[in-house]
Amino acid sequence: MINIKIGVLALQGAFMEHERILTEAGAVCTEVRRPADLTGLDGLVLPGGESTVQGQLLQKSGLFAPLRELITDGLPTLATCAGLILLAQKIRGSSVIHLGTLPVTVKRNAYGRQLSSFVTEEPVKGIGSFPMIFIRAPYIERTAENVEILAKVNGNIVAVKYGNQIGLSFHPELSDNPNIHERFLALCRD
Ligand code: GLN
Repeated sequence: MINIKIGVLALQGAFMEHERILTEAGAVCTEVRRPADLTGLDGLVLPGGESTVQGQLLQKSGLFAPLRELITDGLPTLATCAGLILLAQKIRGSSVIHLGTLPVTVKRNAYGRQLSSFVTEEPVKGIGSFPMIFIRAPYIERTAENVEILAKVNGNIVAVKYGNQIGLSFHPELSDNPNIHERFLALCRD
């Protein structure tokens, strides 16, 4: 797996945890903060954090347009939590659209205050049972027909794949299970 270069968006949020797990799996990580950091990537990770802040920083940094273009051109992209919100074509109850490359509707902070953070274990298609850590997480309310649903929790969609884009409500980088990142790296290698 040597020479797989993954850009991890490092404007805000839990980017270091993705770098750790990807590096352990054999990838080389580059922190993405400005357009020049996007050169020569085999894959891209959009971490969790705060999507409103991340969206603003995408604009300020000049990353918005080149990043969006790379994703629509097919660069394998793994987005977790706030990253999923950045990709979504629609955010329930909001007119804001960030990158808008993934044809799903997400509901932010979907689990409310009482149950804002929790851990569960459910199957993920093609991966098997996976420990899912949710932190003020969104879920996916609706998908276009050609979006593949990879996992549900309590009937709500929490993982999808749409061509080169994988969107997760939960945080695989905070678990000890590298299987999702390894599967993603396999996608980047192809
Ligand atoms: N609640 C955050 C948002 O709406 C996402 C939380 C997370 O990334 N853990 O952006």
